[in-house]
Amino acid sequence: APSRLDNVISLAKRRGFVFPCSEIYGGTRSAWDYGPLGVELKENIKRQWWRAMVTSRDDIVGLDSSVILAPQVWEASGHIKAFVDPLVECLSCHKRYREDHLLEEFEEKKGRAPEGGLAEIACANCGTRGQFTEPKMFNGLLRTYLGAASDDSGLHYLRPETAQGIFVNFENVMRASRVKPPFGIAQVGKSFRNEITPGNFIFRTREFEQMEMEFFVVPGTDEEWHQTWIDTRHAWYTDLGIAADNLRLFEHPQEKLSHYSKRTVDIEYRFGFQGSEWGELEGIANRTDFDLKTHSEHSGKDLSYLDPATNERFTPYVIEPAAGLSRSLMAFLVEAYEEEEVPTAKGGTETRTVLRLDRRLAPVKAAVLPLSKSEELVPTAKKLADELRAHWNVELDVTQSIGKRYRRQDEVGTPFCITVDFDTKDDQAVTIRDRDTMQQERVSLDKVAEYLAPKLLG
Ligand code: ATP
Repeated sequence: APSRLDNVISLAKRRGFVFPCSEIYGGTRSAWDYGPLGVELKENIKRQWWRAMVTSRDDIVGLDSSVILAPQVWEASGHIKAFVDPLVECLSCHKRYREDHLLEEFEEKKGRAPEGGLAEIACANCGTRGQFTEPKMFNGLLRTYLGAASDDSGLHYLRPETAQGIFVNFENVMRASRVKPPFGIAQVGKSFRNEITPGNFIFRTREFEQMEMEFFVVPGTDEEWHQTWIDTRHAWYTDLGIAADNLRLFEHPQEKLSHYSKRTVDIEYRFGFQGSEWGELEGIANRTDFDLKTHSEHSGKDLSYLDPATNERFTPYVIEPAAGLSRSLMAFLVEAYEEEEVPTAKGGTETRTVLRLDRRLAPVKAAVLPLSKSEELVPTAKKLADELRAHWNVELDVTQSIGKRYRRQDEVGTPFCITVDFDTKDDQAVTIRDRDTMQQERVSLDKVAEYLAPKLLG
């Protein structure tokens, strides 16, 4: 039987959230396109993140830096060096390992070298045994060549994270917006990684979107700020409807931390993958002063901060909540998906599929449905839909039976269905049906926007 995750993926394709990239040519496993509803959902998630991280706060500002940066940035950040280790990846959960680390760990535990090599070793993340790719000299950076020369003089990289564009603009932003530590710079945008085994739908792709924020703090206050950001980010997901039970924190063991990190905690979501159920949604790292210091050294530009109050100079520490936009979209879809038995008009029951997306995230906020295609109803419905469109993304749907149209809207998570019926002409009112409770209310035609506004806030 198809798993819950299979059902979500099938709904996402069928209803226009996510399509396979280049599908008419057979599609690729590494990329997906966002359809009419997917792009709305993605925009809404982005908007909520931006609001929570930037516009509702007085200590964080925004940035939109380039995808292709000066190649020296990646030398300084350590990406060119760190991304060339020979790696093996677990075929089941996609966790990547240095081959020599895996073998060493096995020897330490068992006191002997594994006879079957990698085939004897179980993945520390999902427990699957012997399912590793061949070790590859793996450079996660995607290359491109700029300018007329096709030799290495034109070699550039597509960014594997948006963070470095923030660090190299640290000075510019501080000067232009007169912020001072503790403060943050936030950015949403595409990143690219040459993943060896993309997969699990949009969970791991070579081209994806990130929502990242670098928060610059006074050294010594970094650990406290780190914890604050772990809590704040966890609360963001639960506020938007993810059950706390389906989230967990993963503390990176000290010996496995990235070269720049003092402590990293991931927020993981229970995606329900085969093998390992859980997958990372967001990593929250204490990056210390590594980035500003390395860019100071490599660029020759001093990126320390002179505190005018104390006249002391220091290099701020950085706390980084780095979230995946495409991954969180998948998590919100999986979380919202529900199949439930509901009574039919004939006294039986039927299964309805409903996406219980938070109203702030729902791609379509309301659907206007004339009870029939008659000339008596359609113009009124059309006029109402046009009025509501001034505020929200609203759909007008005139085809098929009313029951089928309700089901269609439930399936894509539309919070409200507004029905224009044969009484509308007389009482100048419509019926508004709530997606979750299926309760209906009669509301005066000229009060519909007023009725919806407080319910669709945000
Ligand atoms: P993973 O261990 O899953 O490869 P990561 O630890 O390398 O992820 P980070 O470098 O911490 O990821 O990036 C921050 C966030 O960006 C991740 O939590 C994830 O949501 C998102 N992300 C990273 N790589 C991908 C990818 N290939 N496809 C989709 N989202 C990604």
